[in-house]
Amino acid sequence: MKYALIALPEHPTMAFDYSIPKDLEETLFTGSRVEVFFRKKRKVGYVIKIKERTEFATVLPISAHLQEGSVSSSLLSLAEWMALYYCAPLSKVLFTMIPSSILNPPEERTQLALVLARAQKETLEEIAKLRACFPKRALVLEKTLQKTPLPLQEVARFRSQVATLCKQKWLKKTAIPRASELLLQEEFFPSKKKSLTLEQKNAYLTITQALEERRFRSFLLHGITGSGKTEVYLQLTEKARLLGKDALILVPEVALTSQLIEKFRSRFQEPIGIIHHQRSPKEKLSDWKKMERGELHIVLGARSAVFAPLKNLGIIIIDEEHDSSYKQSEEMPTYNARDVAIKRGSLLSLPVVLGSATPSLETYYKAKSGKYTLLSMKERATSSPLAPITMISMEKEYEKAGGFTHFSAPLIEGIKKRAEKGEQTLLFFNRRGYRTSRVCLKCNKPLRCSSCDISLTFHKKENLMRCHLCHFQTKPPRNCPYCNALDLVTYKGFGTEHIERSLKALLPTIRTLRMDRDTTQKKGSHEELFRAFRSGKADVLIGTQMIAKGFHFPAVTLVGILHPERTLFLPDFRAPETVFQLVTQVAGRAGRADLKGEVLIQTHLPEDPTLLLAQKQDYTPFYEEAIEGRKLFLYPPFSRMIKVLISSPKQNETRLWAERFHQKLGEKLQKEHIYPITEPAHEKVCGRFRLHILIRTGQINKTSLLVKALLTEIKMPRSLRILVDVDCLSTL
Ligand code: ADP
Ligand code: ZN
Repeated sequence: MKYALIALPEHPTMAFDYSIPKDLEETLFTGSRVEVFFRKKRKVGYVIKIKERTEFATVLPISAHLQEGSVSSSLLSLAEWMALYYCAPLSKVLFTMIPSSILNPPEERTQLALVLARAQKETLEEIAKLRACFPKRALVLEKTLQKTPLPLQEVARFRSQVATLCKQKWLKKTAIPRASELLLQEEFFPSKKKSLTLEQKNAYLTITQALEERRFRSFLLHGITGSGKTEVYLQLTEKARLLGKDALILVPEVALTSQLIEKFRSRFQEPIGIIHHQRSPKEKLSDWKKMERGELHIVLGARSAVFAPLKNLGIIIIDEEHDSSYKQSEEMPTYNARDVAIKRGSLLSLPVVLGSATPSLETYYKAKSGKYTLLSMKERATSSPLAPITMISMEKEYEKAGGFTHFSAPLIEGIKKRAEKGEQTLLFFNRRGYRTSRVCLKCNKPLRCSSCDISLTFHKKENLMRCHLCHFQTKPPRNCPYCNALDLVTYKGFGTEHIERSLKALLPTIRTLRMDRDTTQKKGSHEELFRAFRSGKADVLIGTQMIAKGFHFPAVTLVGILHPERTLFLPDFRAPETVFQLVTQVAGRAGRADLKGEVLIQTHLPEDPTLLLAQKQDYTPFYEEAIEGRKLFLYPPFSRMIKVLISSPKQNETRLWAERFHQKLGEKLQKEHIYPITEPAHEKVCGRFRLHILIRTGQINKTSLLVKALLTEIKMPRSLRILVDVDCLSTL
């Protein structure tokens, strides 16, 4: 008798033994999707191990082997590696890979429809009779005769006639499946293959060689903004398809996928799979099945697309590899899709391409040391040069204006001039909302979220105070909850909504659009805003980091970056890198087509070294400077960082267990540097008190293993949670 270890989505931290019935022994494999009885209920699970014995006296048999939705052995190997590397239970990793729409297939959505209740001949006679006095009733009967079943929606105008006909037993209502959800099946102008520039060609040929030889190799495609990385991706994908291989392309955010989808759809005749969280469960399920059956060969998507079950993968491309949205930080496994992609590439022997204008220091370091192949593109693909950046000291502007203003004179003049010429401006400010806090004038206390340790942000349009951590919202109260003062408030700090309103107050005829998390909640809203702006429906687009990445707006000739130094104040070793990346990315949106571009940075720190390096738009001097700092303090890439986050609804419980865990870590890990317990940037989030412990290690695999062992060893109360963030992006 053989046994199988089964993972069940309802219990992601455990796995259970079942016996394998004789008739399934031949066909069952690790990764098979099966049906089992668990506590007398039918459940769907996955085989994660097949073994010769079990330690339990009695185990139940597997009830059935389900044919669809299994996980390939290579994906399972990837899951096993992730479970070790990211200190997470294998089941939990597995259920991160498999979309929830596969685990719990969405119910078939139905709609009501009409069918005939009597014979056709009889109905025809009735229609003839009704025609003179009751033409509408006749029409409904006729329509149903022509198309049965007839969706009720199609005769919505004739509600009373339908009711009568049903009552008189001429028609019956019945439920039918709803027609497939309306997909954005738009037509695209076919785009022609561009003849590659020398730099593009060099990159393309080098990568193609690995593709043809089916060899694992990581490439860093380091190309300045506008150097035409996308064209390289397109032609690599085309090459993979010619070789009969599938291509997987990762993009950092939904906001960006829409633009890349357009480019891919207009280049390739075949269907393209899209994986992102704004798609409906049904769409996800349908695409997953198509990939499994080998009917989809090109897939685009955000972080979780790295697990796309493509049958015959030949190449993986990760655009903007440095982007933080590839990292899952708030939930285990705390994977980075870029690193998982590289592992997947090595398991399957295929090339992995990391593209960026501002690579992460870790990646560039690996490329320089020869671990990855470095491919540089230093020229723009079109004739337009990079737009020059001018730094504007806001202190001086306040003096000139005689007080506070969001907009320096050159910026406001620039916006006006562009609008008159039909050109466009991009304004970047990395904070959403209207005012960032509301303070009582009597007790001086800001209105805070009761579950988190931050102030609530005021959103003017909706007249709501919102918590940006737990999404709690409330109407602004008239009384101060702390001292009860009535109507005595002032607001502080600004967000994009305020900037938009101030701009309109200054230049009433300017048309604006705003793109941040508040304006992009609805499905498809990214696409809508993006198209509206590109087609010239606004003069200015104001946004948070959402507008920073990858967009190509040919009419944008002016970019305003408002206070990028705000991030520099964060006491984190990555802060300068983040600012450099952001400025370079946003600045890269200016003057990409034939028109010349200009970039203005408004700041309080015009002399800051990071901003000055960003102003030069040259990655190498920045890298040389930043890597020295990392080396000095033994930060990554000269070590690896693990952050252990301990949280509980009870403050003293958090403290107690943080101390215990800290002590245990000290006993187990002797070679690693364990930092003292510290308070994170937000000590309380969603009603849970948090503390964290940082570990710096030179041997990540060994350390992960020890931390994982420690997690299973300690018996902790249910209310406590320990999250292990391996290769954490932030130490805050
Ligand atoms: P990146 O992603 O590197 O910032 P894009 O791929 O968006 O740059 O390319 C910038 C612009 O250059 C686009 O308008 C693109 O169509 C154009 N382009 C790319 N490659 C070529 C080429 N070989 N010849 C002419 N134009 C090109
Ligand atoms: Zn909150």
